[in-house]
Amino acid sequence: MSAPPEPVVDVRDLRKVYPTGTPGPLGPPRGEFVALAGATFQVAAGECLGIVGESGSGKSTTARMLAGLERPTAGTISVLGHDRSRPARRTAERHRRGGQLQMVFQDPYTSLDPRQSARDTIDETLRLHTRLSRTDRADRVMEIAASVGLDARQAAALPSGLSGGQRQRVAIARALAADPRVIVLDEAVSALDVSIQAQILNLLCDIRDTTGVAYVFITHDLAVVRHMADQVLVLQAGHIVEQGPTERVLDHPRHAYTQRLRESVPARGTP
Ligand code: ADP
Ligand code: MG
Repeated sequence: MSAPPEPVVDVRDLRKVYPTGTPGPLGPPRGEFVALAGATFQVAAGECLGIVGESGSGKSTTARMLAGLERPTAGTISVLGHDRSRPARRTAERHRRGGQLQMVFQDPYTSLDPRQSARDTIDETLRLHTRLSRTDRADRVMEIAASVGLDARQAAALPSGLSGGQRQRVAIARALAADPRVIVLDEAVSALDVSIQAQILNLLCDIRDTTGVAYVFITHDLAVVRHMADQVLVLQAGHIVEQGPTERVLDHPRHAYTQRLRESVPARGTP
């Protein structure tokens, strides 16, 4: 048997502690809040890892550390064999990291530049992450826009001229323009109506099939994670209480917290 492929994401004992309280004049010790208590997980190429948990369980903290927006207190993060536990010192290193892992947030309205059309947003990422000429970029922009289901009018529009679902397509297009191996999606469909959610989830599945990109898919919605994820990791108050294949974890939860999460999910698609 051949060795298993190296994971694209390899996270070991990842920990995040936030200081709390303000030190007084004599500098009394501050308190600390453990947002992530030591998480270990891997994501294989083309795989979707779901991260679920109630609000405040540490999901976004994990996402932000993966994307380098937050510095780990301890532990290691490696993407495609490159350590990214410490901030990138050089611009080239920052670009390389961005080329490997991109992020899509819950609210495209705040994550997109209100003065930039979808076309310009995609082009900006292409300029940063590819060596394409101006003309080739223009072609590629339209190709990427089409691949996320945006037509020429929508590609020329500002975020304010687009619906929530269309804006999220722009955010996905921007991520794809870097041709990443991993996309971290933090509650990326949570703000959308259920029917629009389904369209975006199907789009994400198609993108994965055609590009082989891996997802870290963060959601508090178990129905969504069931649709998307191969593996799932359950977070409770910063601790991983359960992880494994999605069907095993959701259909035969071993931990009471997972059972409770499951029971708190409103039935979907039933009259
Ligand atoms: P989730 O995304 O699962 O809702 P978060 O990762 O956003 O959870 O937050 C986990 C916990 O860490 C929460 O209790 C939150 O209040 C706390 N937290 C998040 N960011 C900070 C911060 N910058 N400073 C202090 N506490 C924080
Ligand atoms: Mg969050």
